[in-house]
Amino acid sequence: MEFLQTLFDEIIGFLGISQALEILRSGDFSSFTTYEGIVSLIYPIIPLLIILELILGLIYKKPQTKVYKVNFLIYVFNRFIGRFIAIAMVALCIGLFQQYAPFQTTMKWYWIVYGYVVWELGHFVYHYLGHKVRLFWCLHSTHHAPEDMNLSVTHAHFFLEAPYADTIRTTICILLGVHPELLFLIMFIDGTYGAFIHVGENLLKNGRLGFLNKIILTPSHHRVHHAKNPLYMDTNFCNLLNIWDRVFKTYQEEKHDIKIEYGITREMDSGNFMDVYFGEIVALAKDVWRAPGLANKFLYLIMPPGWNHTGEHKTAKVARKSYLESM
Ligand SMILES: [Zn+2]
Ligand SMILES: [Zn+2]
Repeated sequence: MEFLQTLFDEIIGFLGISQALEILRSGDFSSFTTYEGIVSLIYPIIPLLIILELILGLIYKKPQTKVYKVNFLIYVFNRFIGRFIAIAMVALCIGLFQQYAPFQTTMKWYWIVYGYVVWELGHFVYHYLGHKVRLFWCLHSTHHAPEDMNLSVTHAHFFLEAPYADTIRTTICILLGVHPELLFLIMFIDGTYGAFIHVGENLLKNGRLGFLNKIILTPSHHRVHHAKNPLYMDTNFCNLLNIWDRVFKTYQEEKHDIKIEYGITREMDSGNFMDVYFGEIVALAKDVWRAPGLANKFLYLIMPPGWNHTGEHKTAKVARKSYLESM
């Protein structure tokens, strides 16, 4: 029976409904109008959409079994470890760096806007490095392995990626004066919206969200980010506000005549958990092992994926350049 109870708790945890259940049990429905109450209602939205999307996939006979299977395994694998290390890193960064901030934000609307812009900068830095530094790509590539797009891709992460991402994002925010209270609010909004932009075509065919596509980052932009087409690779690193992509010239819209091909360019088996999770680490280890001299071995760690010591680079930048020249 204990096993059944654990399973039940895990399902409740995945659905994110424990807080809402508590309020329902207490009978004090007015709690739903408090901040905690509103959060408790927003949490379950993504898990419920994942289930709806899965059902629609079965109805449309586009089940995307591979993606769901591997992402479910990853979810179970990451369930405990990654999350706790990430929380510890956030606490550590706040403790270390808050004293150096020149000022502190409050909960005024303009500070919230400021905090979000700073958070997006932190997100851009972490995400850009995740694509441009091979060692960090080992942490991030699990998220790019799926060859279809649906909300379960939200859970496809190497367990050390969240600690790595949160260390960079928290440090930048705290040093630039974002108060921890505001930081947690932004993290919540960002986490929920960041999950939503993985909505697949089974649930939302056109991910452009109408006029919003011109103003914010939409599922369409993030689909482009997950594409391996030469024009699309290594673009749209932001999450909700895509100002930094525009500033650093990594902004790319989805073109009507270029169909998105999801996944990464390496030969791989996206249905194999081991390959999805550890494949890039193995590939990097092989390159480092074979590279002549210490300097080359080190360069493989810090240069972009596709960099080669012979000078025959196959980086995203090279692929995009030769694609644009062939047009
Ligand atoms: Zn990415
Ligand atoms: Zn993504």
